[in-house]
Amino acid sequence: AIDVQGLHKSFGALEVLRGIDFSVARGEVVCVIGPSGSGKSTLLRCVNLLEEPSAGRVTVAGTEVTDPDVDIDRVRRRIGMVFQAFNLFPHLTALENLTIAQRRVLGRGRAEAERTARAHLERVGLGDKAAAYPAQLSGGQQQRVAIARALSMDPELMLFDEPTSALDPELVGDVLAVMRSLARDGMTMLVVTHEMSFAREVADRVVFMDGGVIVEEGTPEQVVGAPRHERTRAFLARVL
Ligand code: ATP
Ligand code: MG
Repeated sequence: AIDVQGLHKSFGALEVLRGIDFSVARGEVVCVIGPSGSGKSTLLRCVNLLEEPSAGRVTVAGTEVTDPDVDIDRVRRRIGMVFQAFNLFPHLTALENLTIAQRRVLGRGRAEAERTARAHLERVGLGDKAAAYPAQLSGGQQQRVAIARALSMDPELMLFDEPTSALDPELVGDVLAVMRSLARDGMTMLVVTHEMSFAREVADRVVFMDGGVIVEEGTPEQVVGAPRHERTRAFLARVL
């Protein structure tokens, strides 16, 4: 579903991604771990062209997004993205946050958009919060609304960038539970996370990045359980 080859990204003189090759197959869950500043968010942002790669080739859902002629809005529509900050519209209810893009981007009618929205709110455990405004919800509930909003667009794959790192510890579990259930249902997911227990339990593969390169990748048992590289061991010693 995602294929990245020879990806480089520089900001001025700073080379942040220095030749990244990896892929995510349909239905696969890949977790990206690594120290702050290693380029994890930049990698995710290159996958949906929020950042323009300096070199390399990125293919998403069969479309080469680095092709200059690509209709990137069409591709983005098929990618669900969940960030650390929830980015909900504060003046809209949870339900309206889920219906607005369906109506504007997908052209769904009100009834269908609301039906889809209610189903996804139900799925993330917030069926009773449709009329609530973001300020009336906890951080964990807001993040689950953000996930439901992404799902209501019927994405082919989901990108998550540290979706739980802004949350109070007691709210993290509910969000991870939603992500776990998505993974179980076969969603293709690329997840930047510091939650090692989630990576161990849910990921098919773990990718460890440092200094703009992939230092090692493999199953969670290999990368988290028995890292081969000193840099991976040093990182895990700090976060575990
Ligand atoms: P964290 O774990 O803290 O989120 P990260 O691995 O996601 O870190 P990135 O956000 O990808 O790291 O940043 C990698 C490097 O690129 C950092 O040195 C950062 O300062 C730099 N960087 C990111 N975005 C920009 C930008 N728009 N302009 C200039 N430098 C940037
Ligand atoms: Mg980041």
